[in-house]
Amino acid sequence: MSLLKPTVALRSVTDISIELLKKLDTDAILLDVDNTLAPPTTHVPYDGVQEWIDRIKGSGIHIVICSNNYTRRIKPFSDSVGLDCVAMSFKPFPIGFIRAKRKLKEKPQSVLVVGDQVYTDILGANLAGMKSILLVPQSEEKGLSIKIRRRMEKGVRKKIKLLDEGD
Ligand SMILES: [Mg+2]
Repeated sequence: MSLLKPTVALRSVTDISIELLKKLDTDAILLDVDNTLAPPTTHVPYDGVQEWIDRIKGSGIHIVICSNNYTRRIKPFSDSVGLDCVAMSFKPFPIGFIRAKRKLKEKPQSVLVVGDQVYTDILGANLAGMKSILLVPQSEEKGLSIKIRRRMEKGVRKKIKLLDEGD
């Protein structure tokens, strides 16, 4: 269970406050895209996401997009929201996180992984020794592999309390 456990769980990316990031000692965020920032089928971010990105960047915290999706999907999206990216990052394997960390200008003391999947984002963060925030997937999902992964996540998610619902 512990390798599958996020540091914090929240409903959506826009619920992540600068205060919480400071509390977690975050210098840099490695950020997922699909179902975290935008629906897998479009390049349009969810409401408030662009403003959230600008606010976090403005606070001096670095953000690099780190996604398992293809470059042709991730690069145009990252450009449109003004972020650097690593596509095809093979989460939960550490290779993508290592590549993403290299893109950061300053060497971060503390890197936080943010995403919506337990078996890619959260397991990957724990394997890499990084803190993590698990989000609730924001869009309806189609396709067999994601449905299998969501079924696998169910037991883990049941044991995790969203920060805004508890103490
Ligand atoms: Mg995702």
